[in-house]
Amino acid sequence: MATVAAPKQQVMADLKGKVDPDWCPGCGDFGVLAAVQKALVELQIPNHEVVTISGIGCSSNFPGFINTYGMHTLHGRALAVATGVKLANHALTVMVTGGDGDGFGIGGNHFLHTMRRNVDLLYIVMDNQIYGLTTGQTSPTSRIGMKTKSMPFGNIESPVNPISLALAAGATFVARGFSGEQKHLTELIKQGIEHQGFSFLDVFSPCVTYNHDNTYQWFRPRVKKIEDDPAYDPSDWMAAMEKSLLWGDAIPIGKFFQRTDLPSLHAAEPVLSQAPLVQQTPRVAPEIARSFIEELM
Ligand code: SF4
Repeated sequence: MATVAAPKQQVMADLKGKVDPDWCPGCGDFGVLAAVQKALVELQIPNHEVVTISGIGCSSNFPGFINTYGMHTLHGRALAVATGVKLANHALTVMVTGGDGDGFGIGGNHFLHTMRRNVDLLYIVMDNQIYGLTTGQTSPTSRIGMKTKSMPFGNIESPVNPISLALAAGATFVARGFSGEQKHLTELIKQGIEHQGFSFLDVFSPCVTYNHDNTYQWFRPRVKKIEDDPAYDPSDWMAAMEKSLLWGDAIPIGKFFQRTDLPSLHAAEPVLSQAPLVQQTPRVAPEIARSFIEELM
């Protein structure tokens, strides 16, 4: 009698990209890559059902270093491309990876609107509070007084608070991790993938080459896990907003907020809610569809 082979378990090696990361030794982005791979293994999401999309920057090289489908797009435009991917086939797990400059500076507009639309994807920002790829300029999350190549006498601009911003813009899952806390970060990534709607995960991912202020040593004594407080309720938006303002000797990491009562964009759209678009019969004649495509090419 023929036996049916059990489906192959996905292991870490299956998710190794064809190219090894060229990040500086010690860069926090290594920790994020390992945590994403671990999360996909623990959730057993086959890599052919995952798409990783990025903009431009050190961390935006991410899709090349993981064995999933991927797209390395334009500076600050990854969320717009990812929205298109998700709406074309919402059966896919879509992740967007990038840095603070790409996401909060160049892509700030897309950040706001993707949250408000509750697009079902996980957005991981490797937040190192500096522009790394362009060799150390002030970024939207650089702290006041920080000396960089572009502000050698110290930053005079107030930084963006990504957690408060995400809460105010309507993100339905908002969390912060630290690449020096692997197990905790992996759990947040798993929760973000499983959340039905827009998941925002800001990750302290030190740039060991250009940011000598916000180092692993600086973060380690300061980061405090939200989950250590059993009384904290992540469905309480006001409490999350208050917590998002904490900065200094104690900086919260963990899940700030989650709501599950709001449908994601594809679930709210009457046609898409029936089935992924790629599985539906086209409602236009093939020759008209072809002419649209030719016009766009
Ligand atoms: Fe990482 Fe900074 Fe090196 Fe870029 S420059 S790879 S962010 S350590």
